[in-house]
Amino acid sequence: MTNAYLSEIYSAIQGEGPLTGIRQIFARFSICDLHCIWCDTPESLIKNEFCTIEKIAGTRTFHRIKNPININDLLSHIKLLSPELHHSISLTGGEPLLYSDFLNIFLPRLKKEISLPVYLESGGHRPKELNKIINFLDYISMDFKLPSSANTGILWDKHKEFLEVSAKAKNLQNIWIKIVITNETLPDELIYSINLIKSVYKKNNPEIFLQPVTKTNSITPPDELELLKIQKELLNIYPKIRVIPQVHRLIGQM
Ligand code: SF4
Repeated sequence: MTNAYLSEIYSAIQGEGPLTGIRQIFARFSICDLHCIWCDTPESLIKNEFCTIEKIAGTRTFHRIKNPININDLLSHIKLLSPELHHSISLTGGEPLLYSDFLNIFLPRLKKEISLPVYLESGGHRPKELNKIINFLDYISMDFKLPSSANTGILWDKHKEFLEVSAKAKNLQNIWIKIVITNETLPDELIYSINLIKSVYKKNNPEIFLQPVTKTNSITPPDELELLKIQKELLNIYPKIRVIPQVHRLIGQM
């Protein structure tokens, strides 16, 4: 596969997880096979006819090109966004692993021609696809989707397999787990998640980022007292629990 559907390519500040604040080039792939209730990129859930591309990094002046995009063109667009100013390239979506065959050809060329570290954001439910590209990845931000609040069905087995693939990776610098929580999240599911992570990672356990959902008309994050209670309970069984909201939203970046 030498073509892919993308919805956006642009320069922005990473607003989630341990690398919050770094500058990245975001390559946002179209289509996702999950339908999280809080999805903040609904425009990327479908096969977009056009991809919106920033002309100069950080200026928010865009042009559109027709999808699908081939590898040469994608590399050219990334090169025009001043890669030297960026920490890494974020493969995001949608679900980028739906393009694992494309990425398997694209990522070696990206590494060779641009040499930016590669940061994958994934729903954490496509272990076979992850396995195809794991050796090209430097960072993985993996989601755990909890049945009580994500509306994605039960993904425990997929999450476990995904962790197993990442645990064997040779070049990976870091993996962490992001869990979006709402006022509907069941604490038992958080504890189940931790036990599942511990069953795979016997040491060097990945950090867990509890991300209070960004409030909408229909979804509410846990309040302060609830967050303190949840974090305290989890810290009793797992030392690496941080609570961080979507920082990019706080600075008005979508
Ligand atoms: S996995 Fe991400 S892109 Fe897919 S529906 Fe959930 S939030 Fe949206």
